[in-house]
Amino acid sequence: PSAMRELLIEVPNIRWADIGGLDDLKLKLRQAVEWPLKHSSSFRRLGVKPPAGVLLYGPPGCSKTMIAKALATESSLNFLSIKGPELFSKFVGESERAVRDLFTKARQVAPSIIFFDEMDAIGGERGSGEANVHERVLAQLLTELDGVVPLKSVTILAATNRPDRMDRALLRPGRLDRLIYVPLPDFETRLQIIELKLSKMSVSDINSHSLAARTEGFSGAELQALCHEAALQALEKDLDCAAVSMYNFENVLKDFMPRTPQSLLK
Ligand code: ATP
Repeated sequence: PSAMRELLIEVPNIRWADIGGLDDLKLKLRQAVEWPLKHSSSFRRLGVKPPAGVLLYGPPGCSKTMIAKALATESSLNFLSIKGPELFSKFVGESERAVRDLFTKARQVAPSIIFFDEMDAIGGERGSGEANVHERVLAQLLTELDGVVPLKSVTILAATNRPDRMDRALLRPGRLDRLIYVPLPDFETRLQIIELKLSKMSVSDINSHSLAARTEGFSGAELQALCHEAALQALEKDLDCAAVSMYNFENVLKDFMPRTPQSLLK
């Protein structure tokens, strides 16, 4: 059976407006990915070369996947995504073919984005029993990346929490040659994320500024978890409760510890 059948192609439905804060970063990415696609002749005329591929790096739960999806949505690109480790586990014995099929498929459904999540898994773990497969998958991937012509409608995006573990060959010019750090949210970004999440809940008397101020060090995913748990708590106390209150948030915050290790921050 072809590994291709396992590839899910989607047109995601995440808009820039669904992602709180990060305005500079959104602009940078639009310049790097959206503009060259939309205005390719202007870019060619002025001799501006878009990056071959973009690597988003930074701590977990800070919207790297959302950003990749928003780029696809806002530019109407088909979205193919694969997690690094899946290239080895899902298609045992045919990992190289899986890589080839992925790029073939992406060209067939172009304009498209291939999003590699957990990219550090590729080319990592050298020297283990799996070394051979890793070498071969990496080699195949490099071949495919070198065959991608910028502006030719397949865009490469990758994400990792551990840029230090990435194989250097992947980062050479013409491959993933644009690195963008996606940080933990600052106050303004936390405020926007919290307000986005609250807008989808029934709440009363919530001081979102105070919540943003008291969640320093939280990732976006942790802010999402905080809202989720506050709502669960409100329900636990009273299934008929009409709205989540500041009191519920206070209670959850008492025991909530952000978990991003210092080592993953720049
Ligand atoms: P990982 O490295 O673990 O794959 P990631 O950086 O790709 O994480 P996402 O999967 O994009 O993170 O985000 C996880 C969840 O956190 C999202 O589904 C969303 O609910 C929330 N989130 C994170 N950042 C934001 C943000 N800026 N605005 C709104 N929601 C956010």
